[in-house]
Amino acid sequence: MSRLFDDFRQYLTRMQQYEHVTNLLYWDMKTKAPKLGLAAHIEAMTYFSAENFALSTADELGHMLDKLAEPQEYDALDDTWQFIVRRMKRDFERNRRIPAEVFEAFVRAQGESGTAWEEAKNASDFSIYAPHLRKMIEMRREITGYTDPDKEIYNAMLDEFEEGMDSATIDRLFDDLKRELIPLVRKIVSKNQPEDPRFHVYSDPDAQKKVQWMLLDYIGFRRDAGAVDETEHPFTTSFSSKDVRVTNHYHEYDPLSAIFSAIHEGGHGIFDQNVNPDYDKTVAGSCGYMGIHESQSRFYENILGRNKNFWIPIYEKLGELLPQFREISLDDFYREINHVQNSYIRTEADELTYCFHIILRYEMEQAIFRDQVPVEALPALWNQKMKDYLQIVPENDSQGILQDVHWSDASFGYFPSYLLGSIYDGMLLDTIGQELGSVDELLAAGRISEITRWLNEKIHWYGNTRKPKEVIEAVCGREVSAEPLIRYFKRKYGEIYGVA
Ligand SMILES: [Zn+2]
Repeated sequence: MSRLFDDFRQYLTRMQQYEHVTNLLYWDMKTKAPKLGLAAHIEAMTYFSAENFALSTADELGHMLDKLAEPQEYDALDDTWQFIVRRMKRDFERNRRIPAEVFEAFVRAQGESGTAWEEAKNASDFSIYAPHLRKMIEMRREITGYTDPDKEIYNAMLDEFEEGMDSATIDRLFDDLKRELIPLVRKIVSKNQPEDPRFHVYSDPDAQKKVQWMLLDYIGFRRDAGAVDETEHPFTTSFSSKDVRVTNHYHEYDPLSAIFSAIHEGGHGIFDQNVNPDYDKTVAGSCGYMGIHESQSRFYENILGRNKNFWIPIYEKLGELLPQFREISLDDFYREINHVQNSYIRTEADELTYCFHIILRYEMEQAIFRDQVPVEALPALWNQKMKDYLQIVPENDSQGILQDVHWSDASFGYFPSYLLGSIYDGMLLDTIGQELGSVDELLAAGRISEITRWLNEKIHWYGNTRKPKEVIEAVCGREVSAEPLIRYFKRKYGEIYGVA
């Protein structure tokens, strides 16, 4: 290896240390740090992010990347390092255009906006958050103007989370869903399945945590490379394939919430644990395409976890840990975990009406960035869209526009990835059926590890090195389409609710 390459690797190691600390601070802030300690955490995170940003935009790195991209150096690199050089050079050129003081101000404003959002949500008072949201919109606009001056603004934001999935493609996919699912959901909710109080009895948080580990072990999350902690809103963070951390929130009277969060975050975790370890701590590692990442968490949570056959081998164990389930038949359990109803909160929605929660947010983001709808008009627009898609209107903003964290740190363009993930899942389910045989039968026989291994080999191993459309075309052999998801919904819910 050349001297240049050695220097480059050493430089990367320095960057990685800052990232490691930033990650750890984030994890601690969300799990352990007391309220009064948060401000100092935000300060420290701002400092380390800024240091890392300075390294990632320094002339020294630019010179190395330029030289490594020249044929005599580049051709000597293996595929992985060629990818790393290409990707870092691209990111370098984009980030270089953001003035350092703008970036630092942005990181600080993100932290303040997050705090204001939490306060506004707790008080259900949009006015506390409005000035921060306005600032996030302005700053995101400004930064996107630097990084992607030639792209249409909202498409540039979509690219940030799911490269190549532009709004023309998303419009086509979401329109297909709207056309097919609006009438299906109306038929289902007209059947009015009543609330079942047996699912809302007191459930010891420690027992819920044991259920979480039982599920994580069952689906294939590795303990020696994984950790679990408690937080307000569950998320997963990974330091490398050898250190992946999931979180959960245990509601004392709603154990199903933690059960499905456990499976969801476990799906993210399994993905990160099974990336090619040669990619650890480089831009080739953990997949940064959110639609692809969500496709894995949502595959475990919904396609597998909300399938009756998933529970056949472990339902008795669930009853041992949470005794109320001993009194509930698996059929009743299955019906409850697929209870379709129009509701206010995205994260608590069933997998079917969930689609509308995302379509609504996607349209809101277009209203913000394309139609320039002012911030003060957004709560009313939100409520109108809730009425259009779900026939209900939130009683307050904390049930409405204040419910999600994403806009508070300017992650505009993120929401569509959740639904893209489900769309990919419909396609993956088809492909697994063709290659491994019936998923129902595999699950009923307790052979879920074969499905996990298939996902490891076909998707997880590649980490961040393939773009979303490339992943789907390589694995499924066809273009992205919403048709398999729609077919899955119609078959499954047609059967449960007796609607055609
Ligand atoms: Zn997720």
